Amino acid sequence: MSEMDCEHVLEMVWGYLDGEVSEEEYLGIQVHISKCADCGPRYQFQRRLMVLVEQKCREGPVPEALKRRLFRLLEE
Ligand SMILES: [Zn+2]
Repeated sequence: MSEMDCEHVLEMVWGYLDGEVSEEEYLGIQVHISKCADCGPRYQFQRRLMVLVEQKCREGPVPEALKRRLFRLLEE
């Protein structure tokens, strides 16, 4: 398994949180996040956002617009 770079991890992190990545990718991301000073805090931040989104989703239908807005926020 090759080491993942930051760019790749950031691209995949939503899928990681959603459980939509393969087992190999999941492990690669997990290892990277635990070692990387950049991706670690970013992941924690996105995970918190994800929890918020999931709470919102339980209250009603998934707000796609909200998800897209969060995505754009994270890309800045
Ligand atoms: Zn990184």
